[in-house]
Amino acid sequence: MRDVVEVLASDGFEGRGAGYEGEVRAALWIEERFRDLGLLPGMEASYRQPFSFLPTRPPAPGAVYRSQNLIGLVPGRDAQLAGEYVIVSAHFDGQGRVGQAEPGRHAALDGSRDDGIWNSANDNATGVAALLEVAREVVADPPRRSTLFIAFGAEEHACPGSTHFVTEPPIPLDSIHAVINLEQLGGWPGEPAIVSTTSTSPSWSGVLDVVGFTTGVSLRPSVPRIVADADHWPFAAAGVPAVTYGLRDTDTTHRATDEFSTVSFADLTARTEVLFELVRAVAEWDERFPFTGDLTRVTGLNTVQTTPLERLIAGVEDPSCGAFLVATVIPGTMAERLDFRVGDLVTHIDGVPLAANDWGIGLQYRALDAEAGARLECTLLRDGQRLSKVLLVGRGTDEPSDRSR
Ligand SMILES: [Zn+2]
Repeated sequence: MRDVVEVLASDGFEGRGAGYEGEVRAALWIEERFRDLGLLPGMEASYRQPFSFLPTRPPAPGAVYRSQNLIGLVPGRDAQLAGEYVIVSAHFDGQGRVGQAEPGRHAALDGSRDDGIWNSANDNATGVAALLEVAREVVADPPRRSTLFIAFGAEEHACPGSTHFVTEPPIPLDSIHAVINLEQLGGWPGEPAIVSTTSTSPSWSGVLDVVGFTTGVSLRPSVPRIVADADHWPFAAAGVPAVTYGLRDTDTTHRATDEFSTVSFADLTARTEVLFELVRAVAEWDERFPFTGDLTRVTGLNTVQTTPLERLIAGVEDPSCGAFLVATVIPGTMAERLDFRVGDLVTHIDGVPLAANDWGIGLQYRALDAEAGARLECTLLRDGQRLSKVLLVGRGTDEPSDRSR
């Protein structure tokens, strides 16, 4: 796995900024690994699922970028259960070069100068390395259910790759048994990985018990709620049991210092061994995982930060007012029912102007934390028109309300 991280986090891949040459090169490289491992193409004759997306803070206003997911399949060994899928996924894009679109970059904590290429080793070359390692073992000894290995593009721009997969799934969404997404597996030495969003199925706790028994490592269930912070989210928002297996941000996350030299390979190896047992337990589980996540608080909006120039062009009059851009809308969710559209610019929540750096996660948390039946009013700009949309959260009744003013 060391070699995978070393290659993907080398300067030749330019930090794998989504939509740029370095990410394209990384996709080609991962595709070769899929072929070498003997994964079958997950998209008819190809591993590639291309998509376009709206980047966060693009260098030119209104830019639309292209990226791709890479999908490889290992058919299940049980004729009956092979029609059900376990997805193991990891995003392969990173922060890229300075001057490319900026997905939430921060200055280095130690004050060191930025070196121009943000190699994104822990986030998320480590996840890709673990995915390839598990794929090797699954090819050698397939479980009962089929396994799809997916390297998602452009995650750093509010998950358009995984959202595209959910919007245009190459397999029926209801054939997905469970999703295990991988993030940042080489930080926090000595700590076990966290399994987040376990509220999506009661089966997760049983699985974690089995894995704990088999490996002696107690995995930590965390963030039981469905939060839009990684590629498991579009699946969970669409009613699929989905978790992220990983660790929280480190001092290097989204900074120039996220380099090969800062990854703990002993921990990456240990966590990948536990991951293998997790994937196997899920793929062999006797019962189909039921979905039990609370979708009455899930907005279904994927949003990115805008630049001052983008806000000006869209007609935001107050220069101190921020605005986040609706980048994707997950089908079947509150956002779709309320007719939010890609390109909408949300400027106020409950009449309060947004901060300049607001990228929309605050709205997600407010929906999760609000009292049942609470109303969250979003003011938005669409084609120069001001609209208002009210999210009614926590009750299971979100009758569309849409009034111009
Ligand atoms: Zn990540």
